[in-house]
Formats: sequence, C-alpha cells, structure tokens
Amino acid sequence: MANDMLTNAQMRDIEALLHPYTNAATHRQVGAHLIERGHGCHVWDDSGKRYIEGMAGLWCASLGFGDEELIEAAREQLGKLPYYHLFGGRTHEPAIELAEKIKELYPQPMARVFYCSSGSEANDTQVKLIWYMMNALGKPQKKKIISRRKAYHGVTLVAASMTGLPLNHGSFDLPFDFVKHTTTPHYWREARDGETEEQFSARLAADLDTLIEAEGPDTVAAFISEPVMGAGGVIVPPKGYFEAIAPVLRKHDVLWIDDEVICGFGRTGNWFGAETLNMQPTSASMAKQLTGSYVPLSAVAINQQMADVIEAESARHPALGHGFTYGGHPLGCAVGVKAIEIYQKRDILRHVRQIAPVFQARLRQYADHPLVGEARGVGLMGALELSPDRKSAATFKAPGKVGARLMSELLKHGVILRAIGDSLAFCPPMIITEDGVEEIFAPMEAALDATY
Ligand code: PLP
Repeated sequence: MANDMLTNAQMRDIEALLHPYTNAATHRQVGAHLIERGHGCHVWDDSGKRYIEGMAGLWCASLGFGDEELIEAAREQLGKLPYYHLFGGRTHEPAIELAEKIKELYPQPMARVFYCSSGSEANDTQVKLIWYMMNALGKPQKKKIISRRKAYHGVTLVAASMTGLPLNHGSFDLPFDFVKHTTTPHYWREARDGETEEQFSARLAADLDTLIEAEGPDTVAAFISEPVMGAGGVIVPPKGYFEAIAPVLRKHDVLWIDDEVICGFGRTGNWFGAETLNMQPTSASMAKQLTGSYVPLSAVAINQQMADVIEAESARHPALGHGFTYGGHPLGCAVGVKAIEIYQKRDILRHVRQIAPVFQARLRQYADHPLVGEARGVGLMGALELSPDRKSAATFKAPGKVGARLMSELLKHGVILRAIGDSLAFCPPMIITEDGVEEIFAPMEAALDATY
C-alpha cells in the first residue's frame, strides 16, 4: 500500500514507472523525489527546495545545468537537421567534426570513431568489434574479456557481465562465461600488511598474468579498465598499477579497452583519465561528459590496427553488421562539438586543476572522523568510504545502510551525493567554484555525526 502522505505526482510516478537502481517496495513507501529544474551547479525540487548537485547527476552534467551555449547549439541543430543516421555511408558535419576532435584530444593515436548512445552500448560495441577483428585475424578462439571486480561498465548483457558488482549479476544470470574478473586495485582495502603501493600493484599485475595463463593466452582477447573505478566506489589505482599491467597485456597480445565514460573530458584534470593514470589502451569508450549529458551520445575510438583489420575484413561481408538508429545523432554530435569548444575556450581543464586541490583537501578533512575508513579521490571525483574500523578496513554488518543514512542526512541539508554501498561518492559539475565546494562540505561534519 502506498503512503497517503505522497503527492499526486508521486502517486502517478509509482503507478507509471519502474525506476532504475531503486528498491520498488521502498519506493512505494517513500515516493519519488521530483526534480523540476536546474541552473549552474544547483537543482530545485517540486517544493522549491534548492540542492547543490555534488554528483553532476550521474557523473555527467560536467557543465552544470542551463548552459545557454549548449542549449543554443542543440536548438540550432534541431532546426537544421534534427535527425540523421550514419548507416550505409551517410554522414553529417557534426559527426565528422566531433570524431576529429576526439581523435585530436585522446592521448594515444586513434584511427576511427564509432558512435552509440550510451556507455553500455559503447562497451558492448567494443567487445563486438574485437570479436569481429579476432575472427578476421583467424583467431576465433581469442574471445575472452578480462575485467575487474568492482568495475562498472554498464548494464546491457555484455557490459553488465564486464561490470564486477554482485547487484548487476545475481538474478540476471550473468556474467557470460567469456568474461573473467581479476583483482581490484584498492590499496586501503586489499593490500597486505607492510605491502607498499608498488608491491601491491606488482602483485595485482601478477594476478592478471596468472589468470591469463590459466585461461590460455590464445583465448584472451582484451582487458577492460576504467582509469578510476567510478561506480565501484571511486577507487583510484595505487602507484605503478597500470605501469605493471601494461607489460602483462603486451606479453600475451591482449588488447586494452579504456572505459572513459566517467573520466573522459577533464574529470581527472586531463582530457582523459588514460593520461592521468598512464594507461596505454588500444581502444576507448566515452560518453557522459562528451556532451555534458544534455543529449545522450557515446563513442568508441579504435586504433589503426583495429580499423585496418575491420576495413580489410569488409572484402568478406556486404557491410559491418553493427549500428544503432541513434548512434551519431546529429543533436548529440552538435552538442558534443559545442561542449568540447566550451571546455577549450573557458579553459575548464585548468579550472579543474585549480579547484581539485581545494576539493581533495576538503574531502580529506573527514579522514579522521570515526565513521570514515578512507577519504580518496583524484581531480574532481572522490569518495568517503565508511567503516566501523578503519585499521582493519572492516565493513558494516548490513552493507549499504549507513551509507544510505548519510546520503539522506545530507539531502536534508540541501546536498545531493550518491552512496555506493557504504562509500559516499562526490563528482560535482566541473564548473564548481570554491564556494560550491564549501556548500557541499559545510554540513558534512554534522551529517557524519548524526549518522554515526
Ligand atoms: N562505463 C562507466 C565507467 C560508467 O560509469 C557507466 C555508467 O555510469 C557506464 C559505462 C554505462 O553507461 P550508461 O549508463 O550510459 O549505459
């Protein structure tokens, strides 16, 4: 039975929607939180209450809400060409221009860009293109994908299989058995007593090597990694991690997919997380900040070798049998071009690099609170992981409850953050100012005390 304190909109919502990542029974009791409008780093709900958006929505509204230039770019494109596709060799100027910009900005040389609409579609596309390539190379057995526990790569069947979180697997009969998961680069939680960050990184690279050897190197096609694990709890890899991973992948001729869906376009202070974390990928997925999320769009960038194999393989097929109706939607591409132009002309990356130390220092002020196990982050993303015992990195008996309580406590103070289990994640719009950072953290001590 629904709660009779609910508003009419909440009642209609309950009867009309199935919400993602929401407990349906609890939702019926508490009702939806109706967000009406947004401006800058703030949103307002239907009661008129204002909130600072400490998560940029879902790690994505990089330029905040109501950016007139993005809105105008969308309006202009809607008037000119509101829809077209890229099937059968058709194209449009915004798709070309955006792909050129992606190639120019990505730190490794990339040859071609394939468009989709979401991060999940981009990651599914990665796997399909790699399989297509392996078949073309006469290596049909080289198909396994290695991901990591706590990784987040999306929710479509392949992407969810690569995601390394139990919630996404349990009742969905996943992961597919071609996906294998290796260890999580979380030093505070996973390192052994006395192990340095470098030793921990070397051990994790050895774990990967052992897994590839056990599976058979000629069966392993690719390794997928986010530069910083986002939805797994903002886990920043320890020193030397990707530097230790790279030679293992090279040794076994394993491709490297870089999932930049959160980190791409400035979040870590460089254009891509691959640069900040020193990765050497062969292909990359991007979405979210690609358009500031005003329009859904994602992209897969592939290197020259992949592009060459796919082109050569076209001798055997009438066409590449893959593509989405909305992939490379002109609205998304036009807004993507404008978002990149804004990042450049407003020097948003320099702003991120200037504000990040203030944000990271403020986050770490809570590292000693009795409820906090670890304060961590890089650039403009971070987390406070809650723990009943910091020293042993213990977890709570009922995982997720304390994190959820802290999140609701902060909501009362007008701060929207996201609890991932018992880690409180932060990922504000990249345009946030020092005052905005202060607004996020001002109620933190009181909220932690109230939760403790
Ligand atoms: N990859 C990463 C790193 C993500 O964080 C996400 C979403 O948060 C995805 C992929 C999936 O993107 P989408 O929700 O657009 O399918």
